[in-house]
Amino acid sequence: MDKFGERIISWYTKNKRELPWRSGCDPYEIWLSEIILQQTRVDQGLAYYLRFVDRFPDIFSLADASGDEVFKLWQGLGYYNRAANMLIAAKTIVEEYSGVFPQDPKELIKIKGIGSYTSAAIASLAFGVSIPVVDGNVYRVLSRIFGIKTPINTSNGKKEFENKAAELIKGYPPGTFNQAVMEFGALYCKPKNPNCETCIFKMKCYAYINKSVSEFPVKKKKTVVTNRYLYYFLVENAENGFPGIYIKKRTAKDIWKNLYDFPLIESKKSIDPLDAIAKFVSEYHLLHSGFSIRSISEIFHHQLTHQKLHAQFIRLIVDKKMMMNSDNSLLLIKVKDLINYPVSRLIDRYIKENNIIK
Ligand code: SF4
Repeated sequence: MDKFGERIISWYTKNKRELPWRSGCDPYEIWLSEIILQQTRVDQGLAYYLRFVDRFPDIFSLADASGDEVFKLWQGLGYYNRAANMLIAAKTIVEEYSGVFPQDPKELIKIKGIGSYTSAAIASLAFGVSIPVVDGNVYRVLSRIFGIKTPINTSNGKKEFENKAAELIKGYPPGTFNQAVMEFGALYCKPKNPNCETCIFKMKCYAYINKSVSEFPVKKKKTVVTNRYLYYFLVENAENGFPGIYIKKRTAKDIWKNLYDFPLIESKKSIDPLDAIAKFVSEYHLLHSGFSIRSISEIFHHQLTHQKLHAQFIRLIVDKKMMMNSDNSLLLIKVKDLINYPVSRLIDRYIKENNIIK
């Protein structure tokens, strides 16, 4: 879009909120405001900011402060590690930089509590370094206006938005440009109910034209990982004169379809192996044959893309041939033949680690 920077700066000049740290280019005041406003609304953070600059008017007075005093002033803002980091940073700036904030964002980022966002904000607002600041407001404004659909919570997305903002900032005063985009996002192009009808960009805004404002910015859904608790039963039987073991082919449509496993009790939460045995005994009518417990394994953890498996292997010895389960799907095979049947990696791990096939 032509003249994006010109339009948004002109809007900013007329509509910006008058905030004390915007009156000059003091890196200390800009840094202080950025630290206080992380995870805090401007109306709440403003009073804290004023109290801090009143009590600590410069980096030297803050570096000299006691932790107790800083925490007391910070009280109620939450995220207390911000206050702790702020004090460490003040001491670093005084001791290692003689009380002068470095101008280079790469140097600023080395200071405790200053990340890529804050370093770009200080460098551009205080020193006029041409570097874009990309925060939640910027993601929202740029994604909607330019129709950028790359999810913002991916590394590709972050890069794409940074590149777009770097391209747009060229030729404009960096501090003013950055503040203009952030302020426009905070006051106008808000997450909910943006003021589209009176917006200066509405004729060019991709999301408005395509009636898809609420779909921007795009975020990749976090994968929900489910926990599954599996209790496998290795039921051994020597009744027929050979050490036999029961296995079962999986026919259900899942990642293990067509593989073999042992009779299984599954639970959504962790249960005591003895409770799993009780369930198994009742499900497979083991009371009729008599059984003894040979061993209960440690828990095997196994991570899949959407599932975390927690498996325990319980070895039982039955006196007589086990009665078939309702779907008649159990196979009694020689233990040494287990090697011929395809099994999941989890079961393979257990078999190998425990030397089941001797
Ligand atoms: S038209 Fe609406 S969505 Fe587009 S920039 Fe303006 S306020 Fe944001």
